Amino acid sequence: MHELDELLELQERDSELDRLLHRLETLEEREVAAAAAESSQSARTALDAATERVMALRREQKSLEDEIEMLTARIEEANRTLYGGTVKATRELLGIQSEIEMLEKQRSALEESAIEKLLECDMGEEARLLAQADFDSAESSLASATDRLNTAIDKLEREIKSAEEARDLARSAASALAALELYDQLRAKHGGIVISRLSDGVCGSCRLQISAVFETQLRNETGTPRCEHCSMILLP
Ligand SMILES: [Zn+2]
Repeated sequence: MHELDELLELQERDSELDRLLHRLETLEEREVAAAAAESSQSARTALDAATERVMALRREQKSLEDEIEMLTARIEEANRTLYGGTVKATRELLGIQSEIEMLEKQRSALEESAIEKLLECDMGEEARLLAQADFDSAESSLASATDRLNTAIDKLEREIKSAEEARDLARSAASALAALELYDQLRAKHGGIVISRLSDGVCGSCRLQISAVFETQLRNETGTPRCEHCSMILLP
């Protein structure tokens, strides 16, 4: 046991906590949920466009029907005049007759357009229903992706809480060590492994071989032993 073994333990707890916090940041479920939100958003846009189109087609349909109704009223009016007996002059009667014919021609052209428009309305409505189904399915995917994300976050947050408790314990065990301040500085600056045990003459931080002379120095070190290459804390 080295007198700085508590620091190694603290580093392990700090690294575990870092790993969990990093996982919280980079949860795969987060990406899946973001993609599901994007799909749902574009399905919503498509549905809005399809709904808008159906409404426009129906307005056009309604205006065709209004025009047809208006023409029908004019035709009826002209027929009443024609057969009402108030107009006697043949020329005038012929004029009314040809006006009726013209109005009827206009009306039948409009009726054809109205039938076409009705078909367009049906197709538009079909497209709207498909867009609605797409949107519903995108919404349900989003809901389950969000559920999975929240479950994953809850689970990780519980792990983080217990890792924090373990880290706090390790930290109070190391609190009396003079090297704690150096450990904190190195970790703040470099992150990751800042203290390691010499293993087969190799530094655990930089993985470089330590000279035999330096190894002897390390063993006799009265202060905090540090690697000759990377200056990280190195326990002989
Ligand atoms: Zn080193």
